Amino acid sequence: MTILITGAAGFIGSHTSEKLLGLGHHVIGLDNFDAFYEASIKKTNISGASQNSNFTFYEGDIRDKQFLDGIFQSNNIEIVIHLAAKAGVRPSVLDPALYHDVNVNGTRCLLEAVSLNKNIKFIFASSSSVYGESNKVPFHEADKLDTPVSPYAATKVLGEELCKEFGDRFQVDYTILRFFSVYGPRQRPDMGIARFFHQLIHDLPITIFGDGSTLRDYTFIEDIVDGIISCIHLNEVGKIINLGNSEPIVLKDLISAMENVSSKKGQLQYLKRKEGDVFQTYADISNARKLLGYHPKTDLETGLLKQLEYITASKSV
Ligand code: NAD
Repeated sequence: MTILITGAAGFIGSHTSEKLLGLGHHVIGLDNFDAFYEASIKKTNISGASQNSNFTFYEGDIRDKQFLDGIFQSNNIEIVIHLAAKAGVRPSVLDPALYHDVNVNGTRCLLEAVSLNKNIKFIFASSSSVYGESNKVPFHEADKLDTPVSPYAATKVLGEELCKEFGDRFQVDYTILRFFSVYGPRQRPDMGIARFFHQLIHDLPITIFGDGSTLRDYTFIEDIVDGIISCIHLNEVGKIINLGNSEPIVLKDLISAMENVSSKKGQLQYLKRKEGDVFQTYADISNARKLLGYHPKTDLETGLLKQLEYITASKSV
């Protein structure tokens, strides 16, 4: 199959590209090396995929319609996995308009290009953040989404709505995947685990926003990639599916696990909780199990160790 992956040089995109190439697919990668974090990290991320003759890379922006049309005209794309976005809850508070432009207008541009080409399956990367500050756990796909507490969360809710609009108006065959706190090798440097490893390794204080009681449903990258790839073979249209681990971890316990795997002791520094952060995330993954045969396999310590080994080997921290 020929599969377009937007955000191919990012954390999740680069792993998904490699896995699909390994399965013999033709992967078209698209990325603009957005300045959110260093382009050199993203170039390293795709260096493996770039060695494969079935990988074609386009550097450019999903908001550039001409650029997108050129890609769709030159390639017989069957699947689009749309991962490109301004990611991250906290930074979205500082620049909501830019987050809206990339995540909402960019998604619309891509859906317009998809809708002109019949029979393309569109997989949209949404987020657990759409559930907002919900006390009803675990989060189920049928829950009402009425409290997005950050601009980022709002852009993901709107991106989901765009998928439904294009599904309705143009019969775009779409699936929405809601990812829960993905971690592992190549994790974005702004994310909690990457940041804490950096602080532990460099004997810096471990900065905790809040009292350490928040809960996150950390999900290992290989499990997420398996979920994304199973989605390619899903025959039902318009499904919304959580991809999480369904085992929330208290922040303080996460730090203890990280201390164990790194054999280091951190100095905890408590700071004010950040605007946009929610208290908990917790995925109900019964739909993913039923529809995709999804079974997350990686326990926290194993996943943390793999991330630490990657950091050490690549000196990327
Ligand atoms: P990432 O930042 O590593 O990857 C996103 C990629 O998109 C980057 O390489 C970036 O350069 C590219 N990009 C940004 N703006 C672009 C534009 N205008 N045109 C073309 N490319 C652009 O982030 P990630 O963690 O790999 O996340 C991938 C997707 O999954 C995002 O949509 C994110 O919102 C979603 N998501 C991630 C997580 C997580 O825990 N990592 C959780 C929920 C949802």
